[in-house]
Amino acid sequence: MVAAKAVRAASGSQAARDLYDRIGEFLVDQRLDPDPANYAFAYQLLANPDGPLARAVHALTDGGVRLTRRDIESLGCDAPAAGTPTATIEKAQGLVAQTQMQVEGFQDMVTAMRAETKDFGRDLAASAQAMRTSGGDGNEISRITATMLERVRNAEERLESANREANELRTKLEEARDNARKDPLTGLPNRRAFEEAYAAQAAAGAKICMAVCDVDHFKSVNDRFGHVVGDRVLKALGEALSDTCKNHLVARYGGEEFVVLFTGLDLKGAREVLDRARLAVSAKRYRLRETDAPLGEITFSAGLSPAQHGEVFGTVFHRADQLCYAAKNGGRNCVRID
Ligand code: GH3
Ligand code: MG
Ligand code: MG
Repeated sequence: MVAAKAVRAASGSQAARDLYDRIGEFLVDQRLDPDPANYAFAYQLLANPDGPLARAVHALTDGGVRLTRRDIESLGCDAPAAGTPTATIEKAQGLVAQTQMQVEGFQDMVTAMRAETKDFGRDLAASAQAMRTSGGDGNEISRITATMLERVRNAEERLESANREANELRTKLEEARDNARKDPLTGLPNRRAFEEAYAAQAAAGAKICMAVCDVDHFKSVNDRFGHVVGDRVLKALGEALSDTCKNHLVARYGGEEFVVLFTGLDLKGAREVLDRARLAVSAKRYRLRETDAPLGEITFSAGLSPAQHGEVFGTVFHRADQLCYAAKNGGRNCVRID
């Protein structure tokens, strides 16, 4: 019995050791740092070697190509801290602490109310017993009743105030949830919201095309006019994309990159909308707010790819991203499709 247990434990620890070794080999092969995010990624991948993540990685690394940090992020496997502003994390932690305190407060209140009801029941029973044996004392009953009424009123007030607090906290939690999915500069959904939307649409079996749009020579806008103006341009671009790609999800993926999730359109239809957006942006005459001086032409290049049934986000994104590079190499200010 003991021996069988020992054998089971030994084979269990051998399996763990093998997994650990495979994770190490994978990280070394892919020249990835063994940081927590990469380790977690490798673990998810190797613990389920036939899963969708493994299939997506296999497609990306086919022919000896190494994974980049960007590939890992696009597969939705980055550490939660990456790309999440510290202020957002601190706010979320504050809310969690507040919620815990509130729950503890509720527990204390319920415990106190239970104790009070128990006291009341005991007093009432003792009083009823006294009345039966000695003819009774109505005053005693009314004293206990008055005390209990006072306690009930108190409890009601405390419950009312706890209810108010819970409602405030619920509103704050909803705000925090929205903020965690919103890009603060453009007000557009962020990468996280975009990935969630893709997953939801894919699960619902929607027809999907994904576009990756990257602003052309954006560094030069910053270099010539400064980052504040660069930020304004990004904001204006986000608005232009949202206006022209109405009914489709436009998000800021990061930096000067925007993504669009076209749903219910085939590749041809999505391409038409995206090209209209590209032409609208390049036709705009951006000017400096302060002096009205022209900023010059602002354009973007884009890659567009349809999602196949069952494909994980990273696979489609990678294809669209590669097509966007091809559009850059093809002279910029154009859309490339599969
Ligand atoms: P390419 O056509 O090859 O895409 O050229 P590029 O200059 O757009 O590309 P590159 O990757 O060299 O530079 C991107 C620039 O975008 C550099 C970075 O400072 C700027 N950038 C990224 N995020 C922001 C932001 O939030 N605000 C501002 N103002 N600039 C940003
Ligand atoms: Mg870029
Ligand atoms: Mg760029």
